[in-house]
Amino acid sequence: MVVKDKLKTLYQLQQVDLKLDGLLEERGDLPAEVDELEKKITLLKTQIKENDDYLKKAVVRKKEIDKELDDVRKRIDKYTDMRIKVKTNREYDALSKQIDNLKEKLQELHKELENIQSKEVVSSRDVDKLKQEYEEEEKVYSSKKVELEELVSLTHDEEKRYVKEREKFAQKIDKQTISRYEMIRKATKGKAIVPVVRRNACGGCYNVLPPQRLLDLRQMEKFFTCDHCGRILVPNEIVEETARDV
Ligand SMILES: [Zn+2]
Repeated sequence: MVVKDKLKTLYQLQQVDLKLDGLLEERGDLPAEVDELEKKITLLKTQIKENDDYLKKAVVRKKEIDKELDDVRKRIDKYTDMRIKVKTNREYDALSKQIDNLKEKLQELHKELENIQSKEVVSSRDVDKLKQEYEEEEKVYSSKKVELEELVSLTHDEEKRYVKEREKFAQKIDKQTISRYEMIRKATKGKAIVPVVRRNACGGCYNVLPPQRLLDLRQMEKFFTCDHCGRILVPNEIVEETARDV
């Protein structure tokens, strides 16, 4: 593709991109807001699940502890009974040591139980708060999402048409040029390819272009950019041609 055709195609591509920008602009901050809310409710969901999981585990562990407590108490009773009947001091001491160990175990289990119970209180309180927050955020999210969907559907056909049109132009240009164009567009938040405007100024930043640049530009042998803003310059005849085509 000769430079002139490439410049023209790129300029046409940008015309479509600017229309797409306009559509997105109409949606304002809504897409970002919906995104933000989605993240928030996902996080809340995770936190609720974590608390619910803990509460479930706590119930299981409490049952286990009850069983263990029962078992330890029975063994203490058994050893206490046995101790009454022993004949030697050695046997007596051995049983006493076992009973002491079991009593220690009993204390440990009680401590664990108390710990679980106080954590359960905090966790259930947190879960209630989180669930309430989730419900509120979910309501806002749902309504904003519907609002956005309605807004998107209003311009859906238009958008689809532009995207197709964009594709048609983009296909004709090499990837390197496209990515260069996209980089400049990102950096300037708007136009990457601009005409020369009044008083020989760059149509992007309005700095005056050197006379040689203007002469070079007319030759259309390669791409020229503005020294100040880096935008690609497009000769006015292409701009006029494009305007006539529409
Ligand atoms: Zn410029």
